[in-house]
Amino acid sequence: MDKITPCIAIHGGAGTIEKSTLTPELHDMYTHALNQCIQAGYRILQQGGSAIDAVTTSVTALENEPLFNAGKGAVFTHSGGHEMDASIMDGSNLMAGGVTCVRNIKNPIMLARTVMEKSGFVLLSSDGAEEFAKLNNIAFEPNEYFDTDTRYQQWQKIKDSEFMQLDHNVNLKKGTVGAVALDQYGNLAAATSTGGMTNKRYNRIGDTPIVGIGTYANNNTCAISCTGHGEYFIRSVVAYDVSCLMEYKGLSLQEACELVVNDKLVKLGGEGGLIAIDHLGNIELPFNSEGMYRASQKVGGERFIAIH
Ligand code: ASP
Repeated sequence: MDKITPCIAIHGGAGTIEKSTLTPELHDMYTHALNQCIQAGYRILQQGGSAIDAVTTSVTALENEPLFNAGKGAVFTHSGGHEMDASIMDGSNLMAGGVTCVRNIKNPIMLARTVMEKSGFVLLSSDGAEEFAKLNNIAFEPNEYFDTDTRYQQWQKIKDSEFMQLDHNVNLKKGTVGAVALDQYGNLAAATSTGGMTNKRYNRIGDTPIVGIGTYANNNTCAISCTGHGEYFIRSVVAYDVSCLMEYKGLSLQEACELVVNDKLVKLGGEGGLIAIDHLGNIELPFNSEGMYRASQKVGGERFIAIH
């Protein structure tokens, strides 16, 4: 068997990232943040670690970075709080965990991983998820920890309306975060985390915490993490669709991603993108929006970082 080259890809959200509003300073800030966050997971793969540890570590770093809409820097809900969603999947055994509408959890991806490993369930929500978090010594933070000025301004603009927006489409970009990885043992993993959409209400749940939609990993096919307008991604069952096109129709990763992101989603009106790695180490980072914060790297190879 050919030797496997481990690799990782991350995203920091897709949407209308206007070139005109992205000053050179902001561009540098995002590039720097993406560089740091991919480095965290890359190092694990380089040292012979697992794909599931690599994606957990990169997504935790992305959650801690206030530029992105996950963990610290999560968007505001209609009532002025923060409700976060996250999920993770291990392609080696199809185990998965997710949390939705959680508040005050410093790193929702750590909670999702703990759900996967210790709960016997796949998806926990709000109060129950927080109770489970307390029992498992997951770190909590006060509400103010998640507040950022940019997110506050975005929310102020639409809080008196019925609108809900992709965070990137109001004033400034920034977004949901995710990571996918292949390790030296041939195992794939995917993880995604988000604050959802600005001004969301009624405990709205997007695609991010739902296994098979915002996140999916299967060693026989690929690992996927999505970002974009969740309602359309749910209706398109995006992540699993890419995997199915490979598994049942024999499409390559590139062909499957192209069909789902630039044809099926576009026809439905769904804006966004995804990051994907297949079991051979091919990497695809497609999006149908103006931009997507993204980075990828094969172990020993050059690092790729781009926004548009
Ligand atoms: N997919 C996320 C959601 O709909 C938002 C995003 O990707 O920015 O909650």
